[in-house]
Parts: sequence; C-alpha cells; structure tokens
Amino acid sequence: MSSLQDKVIVVTGGSRGIGEAIVRHCAAAGAKVHFTYRSSSANADTIVANLAAKNLSAVSHKCDVASPDDVQALIETVVKAEGAIHGLVNNAGITRDGLVMRMKDEDWDAVIDTNLKSAFTASRAVARPMMKQRNGRIVNIGSIVGQTGNAGQVNYSASKAGLIGLTKSLAKELASRNILVNCVAPGYVATDMTDKLTEEQTQAFEKNIPMQRSATPEEVATVVAFFLSDASGYVTGQVLNVDGGLAA
Ligand code: NAP
Repeated sequence: MSSLQDKVIVVTGGSRGIGEAIVRHCAAAGAKVHFTYRSSSANADTIVANLAAKNLSAVSHKCDVASPDDVQALIETVVKAEGAIHGLVNNAGITRDGLVMRMKDEDWDAVIDTNLKSAFTASRAVARPMMKQRNGRIVNIGSIVGQTGNAGQVNYSASKAGLIGLTKSLAKELASRNILVNCVAPGYVATDMTDKLTEEQTQAFEKNIPMQRSATPEEVATVVAFFLSDASGYVTGQVLNVDGGLAA
C-alpha cells in the first residue's frame, strides 16, 4: 500500500460504495481523511467509529455537493482545521436514468450538478490552498460510459465525459504548481448504484466484461490511492479505466 502518511484528503460521497472504500483505504494508508455524505449520517458515523477504533483518522461532513456554497464551506472548514489540503477525490455521483424522450430537465440538471459541476466547484475551492502549497492531487471518479456512451444514460454519460475535459484542462492549468489531476473511470462496480439492476441485467452485463466479473469498490480505491500518492509524481491529465477490460 502506497503511504499517504499525514496527507489531508477530502473525499466527496464517502458514506457508501466506492467512496467508502476510498475513505477506508486512505485512512489505513495514514491519511487524515475528511469525507462528505448527503443523507447517510448513520453510515458516516459507523465509518468514523470503525476507523477511530483502529486509531485511524476520518471526519465526516454533511454536504450537498450540488450546492456550490456547501462545497466552498466544506473546503474552508477542512483547511482551517488541518492547515493544508493535499488531495481531493471528486467521487459523489448519482444516476437518474431514462430514455431521452422521457428525460425531464430536472433529471438532467441533478446529474450534471451532482456529478460534474461539483467537481468544478470543489476543484476551484482547493486550487488556491494547493497553489500556495505548490502541491496537490485531484482525482475525479469518471466512468467508462463517459467514453463509450450508454443508452438510457445521456445525462450520466455526459457528466462523466465532461469530467474527462475538466481533468485534462485542469491538469494543464495547474501542472506548473505541482498540482496533478487525473481521472479514474470504473466499469461496473458492485455498490448500491448498481444494486438497482436486476440479477438478469447484472449477469448480462458481467458476461460482456473480459474479466467476467464486476469490480469491488476496493479495486477502485487502490487505483485512486496511487494517484494520491507520491508514486504517481509525474502523471497528470490521465484517464485510467478500472473496468476488467470492458472498454479496452
Ligand atoms: P453509491 O453507492 O450510490 O454512493 C454514492 C455516494 O455519493 C454516497 O456516499 C452518497 O451520499 C454520495 N452523494 C450522492 N449525491 C450526493 C450529493 N448531492 N452530495 C453529497 N454526496 C452525495 O455510488 P457508487 O457506486 O459508490 O459511485 C461512486 C462514484 O463512482 C460515482 O461518481 C459513480 O458515478 C462512479 N461510478 C460507479 C460505478 C459503479 O458501477 N458503481 C461505475 C462507474 C463509475 P449518501 O450516502 O448520503 O446518499
């Protein structure tokens, strides 16, 4: 496990699924983790208590990432408490699937605001403290459907494709200050998000994956931790698919 000793890392949407795995992995690697949730306060409390029992550090924050004010306040709170911020993982995400003719404006807006705009507002908020430190890491959690598209997910796919443009532009803008920006794009991961699919749909999906199975959240978390660690010190503007070969 790459060391993240004493690094201050913010993970959005850390109360469940991939975000929870990232929080646990980073804390186990020595980081001081701050994570957000929108409504799962009981889950968030359990994660903090579990980690504290192992002498690991995590703090939870209620924060709606679709609200720019909430996001700005979150980053200011963390910087004030810790005096620094080394890593930001833009992980919080939602789906509001539907065929395009039936998709409501609010389903489009909710997905774009939660998945894409939040990554912009959080990156903007961390840019100043990271520039002062001349050091920082931003990892955006995309999806392979941002590259391949997916019927019934024009909003979600557009949000994830947008994250690639955001990643590459931010990487170019911030590289001279040693702030590295990358995107991790999972394929199919077993979480509450994919739990909405029927057993049949899951099996059909898994049959198309060259590795013939979904990823665990931990398999995504280890790749995110690589981008947060000193091991990736000359890598920026990249999209790394964690998809069992699906989009290869
Ligand atoms: P999940 O199990 O549904 O968890 C979503 C997390 O995001 C939860 O912690 C949730 O908080 C938080 N969240 C959602 N809306 C929020 C908001 N407005 N403000 C703050 N937090 C919010 O999802 P997941 O499967 O772990 O997905 C995590 C990321 O990976 C997403 O960006 C998703 O698009 C991406 N991804 C997932 C898969 C997959 O197969 N699962 C594949 C590719 C990419 P609450 O618990 O409080 O609701």
